[in-house]
Amino acid sequence: MGSVDYVVVGAGSAGCALAAGLVERTDAHVLLLEAGPEARDPRIAVPGATGDLWFGRNDWAFVTEPQSGLDGRRDTWPRGRVVGGSSAINAMMWVRGLDVDFDGWESGGATGWGAERMNALFHVIEDDERGLSSSRGVGGPMRIERQRDPRPLSLAFLDACTELGMRVVDDYHAQPDGAALTMVTQRRGRRVTAADAFLAPHRSRRGRAPLGPGRLTVRTGVSVDRVIVEDGRAVGVEVRVGGEVRTVRARKEILLAAGAVMSPVLLMRSGIGPTDELERHGIEVLVEHAAVGADLQDHIASGMVVATEGGSLYGADRDPRVLARWLARRMGPATSNLGEAIAFLRTDESLAAPDIELLAIPAPMLDHGRTRFPQHGLTIAAIVLTPESRGRVGLRSADPDAPPVVDPGTFTDARGRDLERMVSGLRTVQALLTETRALGGRVTGRLEPRQQLRDATALRAHARATAQTLYHPVGTCRMGSDAAAVVDPELRVRGVAGLRVADASVMPRVVRGHTNAASIAIGVRAAELVAAGD
Ligand SMILES: Cc1cc2nc3c(=O)[nH]c(=O)nc-3n(C[C@H](O)[C@H](O)[C@H](O)COP(=O)(O)OP(=O)(O)OC[C@H]3O[C@@H](n4cnc5c(N)ncnc54)[C@H](O)[C@@H]3O)c2cc1C
Repeated sequence: MGSVDYVVVGAGSAGCALAAGLVERTDAHVLLLEAGPEARDPRIAVPGATGDLWFGRNDWAFVTEPQSGLDGRRDTWPRGRVVGGSSAINAMMWVRGLDVDFDGWESGGATGWGAERMNALFHVIEDDERGLSSSRGVGGPMRIERQRDPRPLSLAFLDACTELGMRVVDDYHAQPDGAALTMVTQRRGRRVTAADAFLAPHRSRRGRAPLGPGRLTVRTGVSVDRVIVEDGRAVGVEVRVGGEVRTVRARKEILLAAGAVMSPVLLMRSGIGPTDELERHGIEVLVEHAAVGADLQDHIASGMVVATEGGSLYGADRDPRVLARWLARRMGPATSNLGEAIAFLRTDESLAAPDIELLAIPAPMLDHGRTRFPQHGLTIAAIVLTPESRGRVGLRSADPDAPPVVDPGTFTDARGRDLERMVSGLRTVQALLTETRALGGRVTGRLEPRQQLRDATALRAHARATAQTLYHPVGTCRMGSDAAAVVDPELRVRGVAGLRVADASVMPRVVRGHTNAASIAIGVRAAELVAAGD
């Protein structure tokens, strides 16, 4: 693989935007290394097949440590392991996060990452079919569309929200409180990954040959084991290709975009991390960094599942007419992104912004869809948007093939606020399912829980028994201006020259939205920052 100017590790949401941005903004040669394969699985394009991608060959499928807050259960964390990264297996919801989130990043020390700057980035990233407005961009690489064919149950969810006094909004970025159908990263009912949006213009259909400036090389099936640091400077990476260990050198910088689980792992394997953790695994400490792998935050979701007469996705995966309809007209259940409708609410009117999200999935779904319910149904989940619990990512051993330690610390915040917020959200979910005409009239039975939960104790028990990740881990390479932050506001790893991190791991706090948009914006901004010093 020789030597290049920049090596980007990980072709996910941020890595694709970063690598493309670098070749567009500089004269440099950029090598993008991805552990997974090209996005050849045809199901990636079909929104309704999303759940089938989880736990398959395009998924890292990390398993958490047993969670005391979840009755000792382990959760499984799908993460994309394919060109496009998690944007190739996610639920396609485009939910930026709120101004208050980004202004909070900035006031916490992430200088230059406030709402004004982030909104300007979203504006150039987006190509929103609803047209230009102060909260929407057009003409950018990432296509954002309305869902083409939402299920009747998702529309009924909106009506039910109205019955409970919520408003239905068209643009949830302009009006953050309320219910809405989610906007999706699709073009005419087909998934658009970060690779489709950012890399495709630089690659031929067959993958290798460049179409654009010709200075971007993408290599798949290349697992990066560690960063090589010489005299305090990152000079290359050690990789494995088909079991063979090789080194790749970078004339300028190494840019880690391996995601919130693997970027801290790569730093630790390179001798950058908490001393005790590195010494425990016999890794020489080059830079002591207690915050590497710490500050792990995630959105946690707990659902209630009911049976309905119809109106859901049930059976669509086995009906050949569904795929035929999608192929011919891009309509029908195969266009569904699962999370078709959302609502944002505040558990306390005095809060500055919503702290709970409700997510309606027109299918009976628990445990990432692994608990099967052979009937039509609806799942409504409550999500804690502002988690106070913190966890960590660590090393299980120095062996690069050993899966990392992922310990989200779910419901472990000292004040118990996360669980109480969840209980409050679940009360609203239960009210939607039982007290509204729009949904209550459609429910034919309760699947989980099997009966009405009458008090907080029962709701807490339900949350502990059913909650799972909403797939939004961040914070493990926290950005900040303080000496303890892993990266500075220009994303440079403190204590090592020529090394940056640019992905979800640098978010100081998880946004009150979903994390794909912000991860892509981090990639775009990283390209700007690197190019400014090129
Ligand atoms: C199932 C699921 C559903 C989701 N739904 C939504 C949604 O609807 N809306 C939303 O906004 N967000 C959603 N998310 C979250 C969102 O997709 C992620 O936050 C975002 O993609 C993270 O981007 P990233 O660049 O940090 O990491 P990723 O996109 O995960 O990219 C990291 C890349 O690095 C590669 N990599 C890792 N280690 C190595 C290594 N050692 N060597 C080489 N390559 C490596 C990985 O294979 C991967 O391709 C979902 C995520 C999942 C998993």
